[in-house]
Amino acid sequence: EATVEVTGLRKRYGPAVALDGMTFTVAPGLVTAFVGPNGAGKSTTMRVILGLDRADEGSALVGGRWYRDLRQPLRHLGALLDPAALHPARRGRDHLLWLARSQALPTGRVDEVLRLTGLESAARRRTGGYSLGMRQRLGIAAALLGDPPVLILDEPFNGLDPEGIVWMRGFLRALAAEGRAILVSSHLMSELQDTAGHLVVVGRGRVVADTGVAELIAAA
Ligand code: ADP
Ligand code: ADP
Repeated sequence: EATVEVTGLRKRYGPAVALDGMTFTVAPGLVTAFVGPNGAGKSTTMRVILGLDRADEGSALVGGRWYRDLRQPLRHLGALLDPAALHPARRGRDHLLWLARSQALPTGRVDEVLRLTGLESAARRRTGGYSLGMRQRLGIAAALLGDPPVLILDEPFNGLDPEGIVWMRGFLRALAAEGRAILVSSHLMSELQDTAGHLVVVGRGRVVADTGVAELIAAA
């Protein structure tokens, strides 16, 4: 198990302030919803946690370490950012095999993550014919290849049909119940309100509300 601790992140792009003291924790065993309007700083925060971007100030630690200091990062952190960059002529299963080999992860987990994400029947089709929802599932499958205790998922509900949304909610709850720490962003609170055990609402680069589920129910 690992906790993600984001403390006082600040970041500017020229004169624009993207992060303005972003601070919150992602605990193991529950889904943390990261909710706010477009431009609030969700993707930037996730990129800093993943070591893909650098903050001007503050820290983002996974299990007490910076991402870049983790040995075998993909065994610690799985991520879904933009819908997976896919080679349209490659079959879904081959995409995962290629990812696993290129990142020195065991290929033995490929069929398991395909089963977990409900992609078994699509696995031998070319990804050029996948719907956006299938691409999101394949992206989640890729994030699970290293069996990481922490998952960082940027807008995983994008492009899902109503059935896919119900599946994704249940799937995220099940992954959290295994003891993972899961951060899931959305610009729509409604997508996550029944799924999250922890709600972090952000605007203009900072946290504007941070509540556990018990507090949410008490306030209703
Ligand atoms: P969100 O994910 O909540 O929509 P972002 O983290 O993408 O928010 O963006 C936060 C702010 O930082 C926005 O004002 C956005 O325009 C700005 N921003 C993000 N990435 C860049 C970039 N590469 N260059 C300039 N500005 C950026
Ligand atoms: P160096 O190893 O070059 O001396 P440090 O490890 O001391 O650098 O890091 C310098 C600063 O950069 C740290 O205080 C920290 O705030 C920031 N930092 C380090 N790693 C990251 C990272 N992955 N993302 C964003 N900021 C980071």
